[in-house]
Amino acid sequence: MIRYALECAEGHVFEHWFDNMADADAQLALGSIPCPECASTEVRKSLMAPRIGQGKATAPLPSCAGPSCCAGACPAMAG
Ligand SMILES: [Zn+2]
Repeated sequence: MIRYALECAEGHVFEHWFDNMADADAQLALGSIPCPECASTEVRKSLMAPRIGQGKATAPLPSCAGPSCCAGACPAMAG
């Protein structure tokens, strides 16, 4: 599951869960997601991040339990 902040043509921002990115693009292209405030189906992904203060949407590096976890292959073990 993936969550997107969406914005309708009236500027209402709301969040919606999708199965994956392709599902989100498909549903947005079909206009099958109405705005909960004005029911507009002119909805697109909002540039507004759900959480303010996080500049990047990338996930943090996974934690590594040590050599027994990944034999030193984890990004967290590099350097
Ligand atoms: Zn709206």
